[in-house]
Amino acid sequence: MRKISATFIFPGNRPPLKNGILICEDDGTIAEITDTGGMLREQAGLEYYSGILVPGFVNSHCHLELSHLKGKIPERKGLGGFLGEINKLRNDENLLDPLALKKADFQMQHSGTVAVGDVSNSISSLEVKRTSKLYYHTFTEAFGFHPSRVEKAFSIAKFVESMFHEAGLSVSVTPHSSYSVSETLFKRIKDNALSDNSILSIHNQESIAEEMFFKSCSGPILNHLQHNLGLDVSHLKPKRGSMLHWVLSLLPKENQLLLVHNTYTSQSDISVIKENRNPENTYFVLCPNSNLYIEDQLPPVPLFQNEKLNLCLGTDSLASNHQLSVLQEMITLQQHFPDITLHELVTWACLNGARALRIDHRYGSFERGKNPGINLITGADLQHLKLTSACRVKVLQQPA
Ligand SMILES: [Zn+2]
Repeated sequence: MRKISATFIFPGNRPPLKNGILICEDDGTIAEITDTGGMLREQAGLEYYSGILVPGFVNSHCHLELSHLKGKIPERKGLGGFLGEINKLRNDENLLDPLALKKADFQMQHSGTVAVGDVSNSISSLEVKRTSKLYYHTFTEAFGFHPSRVEKAFSIAKFVESMFHEAGLSVSVTPHSSYSVSETLFKRIKDNALSDNSILSIHNQESIAEEMFFKSCSGPILNHLQHNLGLDVSHLKPKRGSMLHWVLSLLPKENQLLLVHNTYTSQSDISVIKENRNPENTYFVLCPNSNLYIEDQLPPVPLFQNEKLNLCLGTDSLASNHQLSVLQEMITLQQHFPDITLHELVTWACLNGARALRIDHRYGSFERGKNPGINLITGADLQHLKLTSACRVKVLQQPA
């Protein structure tokens, strides 16, 4: 048994407790959480820390397999420029570093992450995930923009899925984005998701270029498909109406859905989402540091708060981030949107991510019987309960 107290405990599922006490088993299972009413008495065997205790973080969007591209892609080139660079570099054998993925996994553990929603196009991350202390749900991503590619694209994604499945890892097939998946491939993914009752994730409105491509078949995305990938674009026709409505009509309402980025998601888009989906199984993953890296933009977070969306946090990959740290994503949001409360940030970083990945029976909050990991955040402004750039995280207890 460990008895741990700190200046504040943010349990993830309810308001903070001043000087609360967390009691856990030796394997980290939460046995009890005590509200002292702020009056902590000295007692035998109590560990006390100055700072904030929070559950282990859930990184809801990452691409571990791109870890070898850290620092290789220039910042603020826009999504079109970024995709072109990724395409050029991701298979460059001179850059492949077998240790990069292992290091990134290790870095996540040490920055307080306990679970990851990770996008994989190949099996290159399988071995690291199989032996990692972190929980991974892998999204094997299908992309095939030309209708003739449907069977090939789908069977590659299913093959990758089967390999992860055989290794005993949680996995599901998912579409990459609105612009890289043909309508027929979307339908294939939808049928598969329905029969597997699987979790879906899709890159959504990361750039204004997506809307441009949808409405007029022009702009940086067309340029990428045509010139970087050398694809036949002769079948393309501009589409009418809302891009998001089109995407949502191709995804099953019944399935859990993670919409990733949402940098350009507007009030009217949110209305479309609410008309077409159940808010309960729809999650919005924010990756602010990646958005700043690629587009130098941030999503309209106050709008999302007003609309009471289920927000989660992700780091995206080391190709578009300087580190894989959920705390750094929280700090960036706090700096740009000072009105966000720490309670909200912790809910997004822990419980909502766990709910999105359907692992909240174990992770995401300090509740009896769960084993969510225990992090200590130091360097926060404890008077106003705000994160600062001086914040650091120390892992006090890793989940067993
Ligand atoms: Zn991504």
